[in-house]
Amino acid sequence: MPGKQLIVFDFDWSFVDQDTDRWVFEVLSTKLRRKLQTIKSGGSQCTPDVVAECMVDLAKDGKTQEEVLDALRILPLHPAMKRAVTSLQSRLPDTTFVCISNSNEIYIDTILKKHDLTSLFHTIITNPAHWSEENKNCLMVGRRIPADSPNQHTCQVGCLVNMCKGDELENWLQKNGKKMDDFEQIVYVGDGGNDFCPLLRMRAQDLCLVRKGFELDLRIKEEGESAGLKAGVKYWTGAWEIDEIFSEL
Ligand SMILES: [Mg+2]
Ligand SMILES: [Zn+2]
Repeated sequence: MPGKQLIVFDFDWSFVDQDTDRWVFEVLSTKLRRKLQTIKSGGSQCTPDVVAECMVDLAKDGKTQEEVLDALRILPLHPAMKRAVTSLQSRLPDTTFVCISNSNEIYIDTILKKHDLTSLFHTIITNPAHWSEENKNCLMVGRRIPADSPNQHTCQVGCLVNMCKGDELENWLQKNGKKMDDFEQIVYVGDGGNDFCPLLRMRAQDLCLVRKGFELDLRIKEEGESAGLKAGVKYWTGAWEIDEIFSEL
């Protein structure tokens, strides 16, 4: 009898085939895409802060809410990824899907709605976002853990200041009255350096689905063993491979 599965998805380059933050600027403004790049490579590591600043400029440049939403609606979600999750859901209906992402609420909701996947995730853990009341074309993006919150994370694995994905996974379990052992297997689909932390919290029977050639791949090779990674690792390049792996769960 198949046991209960918990599937945890990172969003950018994992669930979707793009980086949501970069994509919106690539579609709407080369100047702001460059600005995003320049600030990021200048050492500012808190992604939602950088995105928030560039979104203010985008609204000033006259881009509208509808243009931002349209850009998100054409962001690539691979049909095989949609097939992977919908097939798994119908084959093993007691599977729980959770999304932990450093994108933001508006981006993720818009994309899921476009693809009729709004009810897929039990919970979407991400940065807050809303359209400004003074200017409905300006998206205000905040931090998952606000800068003035007394509850800053203390993770030493190298998570960004606004979110520790390992803590988020454990907090989600606790909030829902669950322990890891309530799930026969936890499967994590990720690509980024910030996906390394939650993998370290997982058990030997769990599975990390790591996108080949991205930062997580590198971190696992360099630090996986010394950091005590216990979960199994499988590598993937295209969404069809996720579909294939899911069909064998
Ligand atoms: Mg990612
Ligand atoms: Zn962490």
